[in-house]
Amino acid sequence: MKVRVKVDQKLCIGSGSCMVIASAHFSLNKKGKAEIKQSENDKSTDNELVINVSSAEKKQLLEAAQACPSQAISIVDENGKKIY
Ligand code: SF4
Repeated sequence: MKVRVKVDQKLCIGSGSCMVIASAHFSLNKKGKAEIKQSENDKSTDNELVINVSSAEKKQLLEAAQACPSQAISIVDENGKKIY
């Protein structure tokens, strides 16, 4: 399934919680802000990434978003519904 994930760079405080929970999908950039890791099949538009995930990965992304202390991560599911 596809989900749309976005990290608001202005809100991210670089705590790294998202990377601990979903290390396959998040990394910190040189500015100490989280970025979504991109693979060949992912589509990127304006700081937002559409990624193909399994249901286990989707759950992991949701947990990462919930753990973010600054609510910087937003996720839209395959039906266009904002799940976080
Ligand atoms: S958990 Fe939130 S604040 Fe911490 S690095 Fe990830 S996006 Fe940034």
